[in-house]
Amino acid sequence: MIKITDPSKCCGCFACVSSCPVGCIVMTRDQEGFDYPVADADLCVGCGRCDSVCPMDRHDYEAEPFAAYAVRFDEYLAGSSSGGVFPALASSVLDEGGCVYGAVQKSDMKTVHAEASDMAQMEAMRGSKYVQSNLYPVFEDIREKLQMNRKVLFSGTPCQIAGLDNFLGKSYDNLLTVDIACHGVPPPGLWERYVDSLEKEAGKKIVHVDFRDKSRSWRHYRMSIRYDDGTVSYSRRDNNPYLSLFMQKMILRPSCYDCRFKCGRSGSDITLSDLWSVSDLVPELDDDKGVSGVFINTVKGMHAFGSLRPAFVQEVDPDKARSCNSGFSSDAEVPAARDEFFKGAYQTPDILAHMKEYVVKEPLSRRIWRSVRSLLSKIKRRILV
Ligand SMILES: Cc1cc2nc3c(=O)[nH]c(=O)nc-3n(C[C@H](O)[C@H](O)[C@H](O)COP(=O)(O)OP(=O)(O)OC[C@H]3O[C@@H](n4cnc5c(N)ncnc54)[C@H](O)[C@@H]3O)c2cc1C
Ligand code: SF4
Ligand code: SF4
Ligand code: SF4
Repeated sequence: MIKITDPSKCCGCFACVSSCPVGCIVMTRDQEGFDYPVADADLCVGCGRCDSVCPMDRHDYEAEPFAAYAVRFDEYLAGSSSGGVFPALASSVLDEGGCVYGAVQKSDMKTVHAEASDMAQMEAMRGSKYVQSNLYPVFEDIREKLQMNRKVLFSGTPCQIAGLDNFLGKSYDNLLTVDIACHGVPPPGLWERYVDSLEKEAGKKIVHVDFRDKSRSWRHYRMSIRYDDGTVSYSRRDNNPYLSLFMQKMILRPSCYDCRFKCGRSGSDITLSDLWSVSDLVPELDDDKGVSGVFINTVKGMHAFGSLRPAFVQEVDPDKARSCNSGFSSDAEVPAARDEFFKGAYQTPDILAHMKEYVVKEPLSRRIWRSVRSLLSKIKRRILV
């Protein structure tokens, strides 16, 4: 029976919860706001399934990608976080009568994995949600669809791909898995407190959050929040404590500081990322609108990617495509103030002030350099066009 004694040994993938034959495991929120499985010993029948599907010790992949590409889909650029490759893959699976699973934001601003069987439903999956998503009961749905011979695209973090793989216990030709480069996920508990505080402060309800509003810049992280009265507020990373703490790696899940699944270790067919080294690799695309770095990990992934028709595609060196990207770098150091931050986070009456206290301002030189790079990209693009 699963028992989590060290939180860094559970990535929260839901494989155990989804596998229990008597349904006696529930995800339970801890003091940091993350969800962990807790089994009811009175109901447990001792089958051992939960332990055997857990990917933390039982998932050994070590794949070097076959190839990497710089890619952009013009038609999906605006609503997607990088170059819009995910909606293009989704469209191709849906065209074949398949279904797509990805992370969506519900009307209460909670992030969950959901199914889409047409492009209208898929729309909500576009864009990064910087909070850990709830996967229950998606794994069982996926197995059912696969057994019915439906084509399935599952997208998620590398640990979610590994969890699904262990849950299924066998490979399916009709399953395509796509993970995102991932430097970690923040807790749903903190996100919910943050949303609640913003709503109280504004005196109105939030109806949509774009964690990565690219309308001005792909490089400068900016969040946009739409309220029920139609107003929208924008905040850049430097004046948004949630984005700042996420980028500072202060609020990541303990397992993210020693991740076993990123960098080609999830077993996914394709990995999608931001191509931060765009200015070196494809200067003609360096216009601050977003470019994807796509890594092809399997033959199945190569076939799926080969069927797409992007506006721009160019093969690039995988090592260079991974550079300058914390989603591929070795694991983050646990910030010294992390424990202290979480100890105070759920007791304080003013979570916004508490979060601001722990933000480390980016050095001015770095912010200026980023602005200069954005400007240079735009000038270079004008010269090249
Ligand atoms: C928490 C998080 C951390 C990330 N860290 C990095 C990083 O360090 N480096 C990097 O290059 N890229 C990172 N990304 C991924 C990147 O920003 C893009 O999402 C990715 O390149 C796909 O972009 P796209 O334009 O092809 O598709 P988009 O249309 O933006 O598609 C978004 C995709 O991300 C999935 N997704 C969104 N939110 C979540 C979530 N909370 N949990 C699981 N899946 C989710 C959706 O299901 C969909 O497949 C991160 C994304 C998230 C959610
Ligand atoms: S051992 Fe079997 S019954 Fe018990 S919690 Fe694990 S999966 Fe459920
Ligand atoms: S299966 Fe996933 S959720 Fe369950 S204990 Fe293992 S890592 Fe945690
Ligand atoms: S960093 Fe690793 S453990 Fe954390 S969410 Fe990403 S894939 Fe999962």
